[in-house]
Amino acid sequence: MRVRYAPSPTGEPHLGNIRTALFNWLFARRNDGVFIVRIEDTDQERLVHGAMEAILDALRWLGLDWDEGPTGAGTECKGGYGSYFQSQRLPLYHSHVEQLIRSGHAYRCYCSPARLEAVRLAQQQQKLPPGYDGHCRDLPAEERRRREEGGEPCVVRFRIPLDGATTVHDLVRSEVTWENRLLGDMVILKSDGFPTYHLASVVDDHHMHVSHVLRAEEWLPSTPRHLLLYQAFGWEPPRFAHLPMILGADRAKLSKRHGATSVLAYRDDGYLPDAMLNFMALLGWSLDDKTTVISRPELMQHFSLERITKAPAIFDKEKLAWMNGHYIRALSDEALGPKLLPFLERPAESGGLPADVRRPLDRGYVLRVVPLVKDRLKLLSEAPALTAFLFQERLAYEPALLVQKGMTAESAVDALRQARLRLSPLASDGRWTAPYLEEALRPLAAELKLTTGQLFGALRVAVTGQTAAPPLFQTMEVLGRDRCLARLEQAVAALLG
Ligand code: GLU
Repeated sequence: MRVRYAPSPTGEPHLGNIRTALFNWLFARRNDGVFIVRIEDTDQERLVHGAMEAILDALRWLGLDWDEGPTGAGTECKGGYGSYFQSQRLPLYHSHVEQLIRSGHAYRCYCSPARLEAVRLAQQQQKLPPGYDGHCRDLPAEERRRREEGGEPCVVRFRIPLDGATTVHDLVRSEVTWENRLLGDMVILKSDGFPTYHLASVVDDHHMHVSHVLRAEEWLPSTPRHLLLYQAFGWEPPRFAHLPMILGADRAKLSKRHGATSVLAYRDDGYLPDAMLNFMALLGWSLDDKTTVISRPELMQHFSLERITKAPAIFDKEKLAWMNGHYIRALSDEALGPKLLPFLERPAESGGLPADVRRPLDRGYVLRVVPLVKDRLKLLSEAPALTAFLFQERLAYEPALLVQKGMTAESAVDALRQARLRLSPLASDGRWTAPYLEEALRPLAAELKLTTGQLFGALRVAVTGQTAAPPLFQTMEVLGRDRCLARLEQAVAALLG
């Protein structure tokens, strides 16, 4: 089995696009097949600088390795059927176009853009289906020769039969039939000498021995044209499977507004590749009717075309965030720490820790911070905001926050001073740990005639600068004795301020 992912480097590798890559990759890996990446760069006007690199980066980030295709260094390729850049295969397309002209399946068309535009407008006014009107289809031989010899600019069109119908046997959508007369003689070679998508993809799929074409549903209407091309060449077509559309939660076609941005933007927001992979696999495919968390190896083992749905897939960003949190919690602290580092060390303006925190961070300390926030993280990029107080030297907060409900500033000062007294004998020699800290502080509440909620609330604000934070004693353990004692002192000073 040989499948290909055939992106056009004309924009960002957005989610829908990469979903196509993923399904092809899973199908290849499931069946011990070959996964090909082919760059469809024949539309010279729409090429976007850097787009191919971004697409390959997205594949690499997700771990979708390819067996044949670009190596990432210029137009260099690996695999036995290259080049895998269509722009490098022009002679092949030209010889096939010639072949079709000779066999009468294609013809040169000299219609000017202005004429085509006039035809289009007339069709629109008469409410006729759009399409080429066949003006150059049967030019007299004499005129044809004259224009050809004169080197007049032209395109080459494929001659679609005027009668009959073409049926696509799709592995997802079963049979879909088109009347040939509605297909229109499409251009296969443009006046700039580049083939169109239709010709290039058919020629390449044939010569690259592609056995299955898995692509987005929007290409379904192109498929009857492709089948007629295969017929004209006398080739066996591959099997086709068109993947369902992806819609937003409001059932509108997925757009930027729904989060259909570049997959690399998800990487930069702190989604894990495994979570992304799991989530995207479920956009139009399912293992059964209930399982949502499916690991990479399980996907590789169970992916099948039979379970691709016809119905559109719904993109649910909350589900993705939930899934990401799930995959984060499944990581060991040792695995999560290094993944958080780049997010923490980013410049403050890009969402990293505040500028006053010195970089590089102490790796060992970051590892100790991990368990404090692991359960609360949905995105890696949330870590800096959740952990800033653990890295900052000085905290900035409203002193009034220290005074818990039912307390006065005086009782808060007293409580913080007493707590400090209880804590200072706990040296950093092994007793500055959560259980000892709790043992030292819990009885204090009653002695001060406070509830533990009041005492711990005041302490929480003093040591973290916030009212909601990870478990207090674990946090104090990680912060360490000196820093905690200093913060208690600062809190008292702020209240007396
Ligand atoms: N180049 C087309 C795209 O960008 C490929 C369509 C196909 O897979 O045939 O989606």
